[in-house]
Amino acid sequence: MNAHVRPRLLQAPAAGQFPPQPFQVYTQRDLERIAPLTKLPEAFRFDMQVVSTVLPFRVNQYVIDELIDWDQVPEDPIFQLTFPQRGMLEPHHFDLIADLLRGGAEPALMQEAVAQVRAELNPHPAGQMELNVPMDEAGNRLEGIQHKYRETVLFFPSQGQTCHAYCTFCFRWAQFVGDKTLRIASSESATLLRYLRSHPEVTDLLITGGDPMVMKTKHLATYLEPLLAPEFDHLQTVRIGTKALSFWPHRFLGADDADDLLRLLERLQQGGKHVALMAHFNHWRELETPAVREAIRRLRDTGVQIRCQGPLVAHINDDPMVWRRLWNTQVSLGLMPYYMFVERDTGARNYFEVPLVRAWEIYRQAVQGVSGLGRTARGPSMSASPGKVEIQGVTEVGGEQVFVLRFIQARNPEWVQQPFFARFDPEATWFDQLRPAFGAEKFFFEQ
Ligand SMILES: *Cc1c(COP(=O)(O)O)cnc(C)c1O
Ligand code: SF4
Repeated sequence: MNAHVRPRLLQAPAAGQFPPQPFQVYTQRDLERIAPLTKLPEAFRFDMQVVSTVLPFRVNQYVIDELIDWDQVPEDPIFQLTFPQRGMLEPHHFDLIADLLRGGAEPALMQEAVAQVRAELNPHPAGQMELNVPMDEAGNRLEGIQHKYRETVLFFPSQGQTCHAYCTFCFRWAQFVGDKTLRIASSESATLLRYLRSHPEVTDLLITGGDPMVMKTKHLATYLEPLLAPEFDHLQTVRIGTKALSFWPHRFLGADDADDLLRLLERLQQGGKHVALMAHFNHWRELETPAVREAIRRLRDTGVQIRCQGPLVAHINDDPMVWRRLWNTQVSLGLMPYYMFVERDTGARNYFEVPLVRAWEIYRQAVQGVSGLGRTARGPSMSASPGKVEIQGVTEVGGEQVFVLRFIQARNPEWVQQPFFARFDPEATWFDQLRPAFGAEKFFFEQ
């Protein structure tokens, strides 16, 4: 044992406080079984049926009972985060599916229509599936691995391709709708380890999904445990992307599998890895329950860092005061604000998108009300094909109104931190709508 190894700090919760909970999940065919929903008008429930025929829907008892304020429905932000809403489909898409549902269409006909609508919702923004997938020596694609930025490898374990509930705005929605050809996943720990072994430049592994925390601890361990071998010393950081703290904090409480998970994270941490949970939060409400508070406490006791990120989305958190309170709550609980993302150009984007100029105002007003410890949140950031582009602000240069931009992260490391300018456009909601300022033909990184 190394001298720096800390004694185990894991504490059992007070007896009976957080006993193991059954995970009770609801999908589209259970919509009529969700008790508080039955109080809503019939037409409203039909709208949900229509939308969830196209977009994934999954919610669980914890979200229903502890996160949603049913007196505020439909405006409630967590209701908007998890339940389908009519405006999430374009009217012509909505009508197409609604007519088929009303007419009791043949399954084959329905499937065809659904597939057609989905195909029109840009299921793979920024070339998610095709690009960044490395090859082995024999030229085979290593599915389930993405290597876009030099130091960081993304891994999508096949057992982690779902979540404890689904976010209505999810940019990975196409992975959840059952079409296997749209799925990004690897079942092979061996593939990952071989890749990391041959890439000493990689310092960070980011395990993502879906949500890897839906996996049983023993499955997660097959990916994580081997990383402690000396041949992976170049790997300094293991990040795990998750929304489990929000959607199912009991993943970290009560059950034996939860204790095993905390010990696994602790072993990695004590073995010299920096372990970071990249926790997805959209609203401070997700951080208020006794269960999430206890889960955070237990995770922090293992020595892991919890860094927080999430998109800015209309109907859920397009309000500086929501972000201010979110970041302040995170800091007070010992979590680190990391990224504010711009909602991607996929799925129900029309419902959720916020103009870039508004996103910047929200970031700015929010950040003005937090201490330096909360200003570790960068953004608003767009994960676009060349890299992560941050909107730094709007200003005037030589009489022209411009967006000031920078790459936080880029395909080519040389591009990082070089300010560049786009023509101001009050309606633009995504990077591909921006044009270079000052009459230039191309942005500097396109030349
Ligand atoms: C955001 C992201 C990362 C991590 O980037 P950091 O700047 O290190 O947080 C890695 N790979 C991809 C594809 C990403 O989008
Ligand atoms: S938790 Fe993440 S991957 Fe899962 S549905 Fe929400 S945004 Fe998508």
